Amino acid sequence: MTIAREDCLATGIMTSDSRVLLFFIDGLGIGTRGPHNPFDGLSDAAPLAIFQNEPAEIPFAGILAPTDACLGIEGRPQSASGQTTILTGVNAPKIIGAHKQGFPNQALLDIIREHSIFLQLKNKGIESITFANTYTKRFFERRPRWISATTAAVEAAGLRFNVVEDLKAGRAVYHDFTNEMLIEYGEIVDVRTPELAGDVLAGIVRSHRFTLYEYFITDKIGHAQDYDAARRGLPMLARFIRAVLRNLDLTNTTMILTSDHGNIEDLSARNHTLNLVPTITWGRNAEAIASRIETLADITPAIVRTLTANATAGS
Ligand SMILES: [Zn+2]
Repeated sequence: MTIAREDCLATGIMTSDSRVLLFFIDGLGIGTRGPHNPFDGLSDAAPLAIFQNEPAEIPFAGILAPTDACLGIEGRPQSASGQTTILTGVNAPKIIGAHKQGFPNQALLDIIREHSIFLQLKNKGIESITFANTYTKRFFERRPRWISATTAAVEAAGLRFNVVEDLKAGRAVYHDFTNEMLIEYGEIVDVRTPELAGDVLAGIVRSHRFTLYEYFITDKIGHAQDYDAARRGLPMLARFIRAVLRNLDLTNTTMILTSDHGNIEDLSARNHTLNLVPTITWGRNAEAIASRIETLADITPAIVRTLTANATAGS
C-alpha cells in the first residue's frame, strides 16, 4: 500500500481517480474443444482458456463478454481493421467495406488519427496516458514502411514512445514480456519472469489513468499453426495476466482484456477464425462495462465513459 501511495504522490494522481488497463491480445478467440485447440487440456491457462458453450471460470472475479469481431462485414476479421475498431470505437470494416489485414491503409490511418482512444481521452482532459510497450532503436533508425494501428495511434496523439531505457527503469514492458526476444536482438536487459513483468505493468497502470498493452505472439503462433509453441507460451501469458491482476487495486482500476479476431484457438487452419473473441473485464465497474460490450466497436466508448464519469456516479 505504501508503494502505491508514493506512486500517486510522485505522479500527482489522486488515489480516488479511476484507472483503466486495456490489455490487447492479437488473435485470441473462443473456440471449441478438440485437438485443434491448444487450450484443451492445458492447465494453468486461466483466464485465457475459454470454450464455447461452457461456463468460463475467470479468476479475480472477471466477467466475460463474448465479443463479435466480424462487425457485420463478410469474410474473416483481420488485424488492421479490427485493431482500428478497438482503438477508436469506429466500425472500421463497415467504413472501408472490408476487413483489412496486417497494417492500416490510409483510410484506416485517417480513422485512427482522428478518433483514437488516446485523443478522445486527451480531449476530455485525461492526459496521463501511456502505451506500455517498448520500441527498440531499430524502429527509429529504420522506420518500417508500414506501422501498426497502435503505433499510428501513439504518434497521432503525440504520446512518447517507450524505449529500452524506460524498460530498464521499470517504466515499460516489451511485447515479449519476458525480454527474451530483446536479449536475442542484443539488448542488455534482464530476463523477467511473468510474475515480475506483471508487477512492472501493474506499476505503470498505477501511475497513469489509461494504459494500453499489446501482445501479438499469439497471432504469429496461430498463423504458424505451432501447437508446441502455443502450449509453451499460453501458460506464460496467463501467468503474466494473473500477476498484473494480483498487483492492481481493483477497487479503483479496471482491466479490460480483448482481441481483434480468433486464431490461436484453432490451429487446424492458418487463417483467422470467425469465432467470438473474449472481452474480459475486472475491477471497478467491471459488470457495467461488460454489459455494454457486444462488438469490438463498443470497447473505446466504454473506456471513455468509465474514465470520464463522475467518480461518485459509479457508471
Ligand atoms: Zn490480429
